[in-house]
Order: sequence, then C-alpha cells, then structure tokens
Amino acid sequence: MPGHFLLSAAARTIGLRQVYAGGEQKAFEQFKKLRWPETGGKPVCPRCGSFESYDIATRRKHKCKACGHQFSVTSGTIFAGRKMAFVDLLAAIVILANAAKGVSMLQLSRDLDCQYKTAFVLAHKLREAVSLEIKGATLSGTVEVDGAYFGGYVRPANLKENRVDRRLAGNRTGKRRVVAVARERQGRTIATVTKSEADGIAFVESVVAPGSILQADEAAHWDAFHAKFKTHRINHSQAYSLNGACTNQAESFLARLRRTVGGQHRRVAPQYLHQFAHEAAWKEDRRRLSNGELSSKKLALAMAHPVSRVWAGYWQRAV
Ligand SMILES: [Zn+2]
Repeated sequence: MPGHFLLSAAARTIGLRQVYAGGEQKAFEQFKKLRWPETGGKPVCPRCGSFESYDIATRRKHKCKACGHQFSVTSGTIFAGRKMAFVDLLAAIVILANAAKGVSMLQLSRDLDCQYKTAFVLAHKLREAVSLEIKGATLSGTVEVDGAYFGGYVRPANLKENRVDRRLAGNRTGKRRVVAVARERQGRTIATVTKSEADGIAFVESVVAPGSILQADEAAHWDAFHAKFKTHRINHSQAYSLNGACTNQAESFLARLRRTVGGQHRRVAPQYLHQFAHEAAWKEDRRRLSNGELSSKKLALAMAHPVSRVWAGYWQRAV
C-alpha cells in the first residue's frame, strides 16, 4: 500500500518514547493545556471561576487566591481522584490511540505495569468521555444503516447428545445484543445497542434528519423506513452494491467492531457494549488523524467530562 496515510510519518506524531522522555512535568503541562484551553493552561478555579491561583508545586495542585479553594488539574473531571502519574495516563491514551482495534485490558495492565482493574476502569472512563461527543449528533444526506449481533455465545456441549438447540430462546443466555449503526457517507458514524435489529428503527429515526436518503439491506424489519425516508435496499444475496444501493460502509464499521470485541476484549458485558460501540464509531470517524491528534482529542474530552457517574476511583460505583 504505497502512500497509505497510516504508513506515512504524518500518522505518527507521538510515541511512548516521547511521552516518557518528556516526564511527569511535561505530561502535567499537557493536562493543564487541555483542561484550561481558554487560558492557555493557566489554572481556573472550578469553584469561583477566578484566574488567579497559587501553585502548590510539590503536590501539583493549585489554591485559588479569591476563595481559597484547593484544586488540581483533574478536579471535577473524569480523572478526579487519579492515583496514576500523569505520564502513565498519557501513555495509556497513546497506547489506546495507536490500537485501531483496541487493546485487551490485560495487555494494557502489563504495558503500564498496573492492576488489571486500574486499566479496565481507565479505559472505560475514556470511553465514557468519548461518548459525550456523540450525544445529540444527527446525520443527514445519504446514510447507511445496518445491525449485527454481539455476545451471548452459547458453547455447544462436547457430546452430541448433550447439545441443545441454540436457536431457542430458552437455551440462550439473554446476553445477546444488536449493535445498530447509522453512517453518513462522507460524514459521521453513530452506533447504539438494542435488543433486536428491529429496535434499531427507532434509533435511526432519532439520529437521521428528515429528508435524508437511507441505504439498508434486505432484512424485512427495515421496510418500516420507506414510510419516512427515501430508502434504497440492497439484497446481499444478489450484490453488495447495485444501482446506487450499498451498505458497505456501515458493514465495515460493524466488521471492525467485531474484530475489536472478538479479538481484544473477548467478553464484553451487554451493559458496556454501547461504550465500545461509541468508541469504535468515534475512532472510525477519526481514522485519518495522526496518533498525536487522536490522543490530544481524547485527553481534551476527558478533561471536559465531569466526574463519572459509573466509575468511582478505580472501580465501578455501587448502584
Ligand atoms: Zn476560587
């Protein structure tokens, strides 16, 4: 693939060597720059909004001159109460940005030399931050739609006589979900998780602007679209692209997500699947950015995201 963007030097603008050579102080400066972009990284009191503060350099904290409030660069963000060094957090973001199909949490914990659950929660917090950017987004123009099943695999018994009909609801795990995706041509990708492909209809209607043209496969439940949108259908038993009808972009997203889930994460609990789907969509739309830009964008989202409602410290909040 001569000339492919991902093979070019332009795709690589940050590396782990650079992160660690820069050290803790440089990583800290980068966190500040992305937390307070409006002041160029100068701390802003989260309590009263004052720009004047003392630095408590030994603890990398700040004290507001106006109200006396002590705060850090991560106070009130998704990284609030962090225990990891800034340099390790930055390294984690770079490792995750470099992995087009994600990284298993065991691998990340080995790379960072931290506990498995630390890596797990860190990656989930970043996914939560990324999801923020998807909220309220809509698609228009030509939009491809597709859905695919994830999870709920039932392992067949060893002996044939012990095997059950896995198509019957009673023999399923109840953990199977559908990832439905709507992908605007030359535009954004939005994905969601539903219990059945047919449930994807309401999702598509909520994210696709009226007047858009839909592209869907021959599955009968998509027939409902014709009442609301101009809809092209492609019958995959005949062709993948015919007379302007094609869902290849939507399918390539699902294929990539399947490789992410199947190849790296292995078991994704149904309650977390939407986070993986959102992250994959976010990444898909930014696949032509350099790894440095991807890392910065992700960190900026984390710095703009309030304290997680799902993840406390380094483990899941009790609900
Ligand atoms: Zn203050």
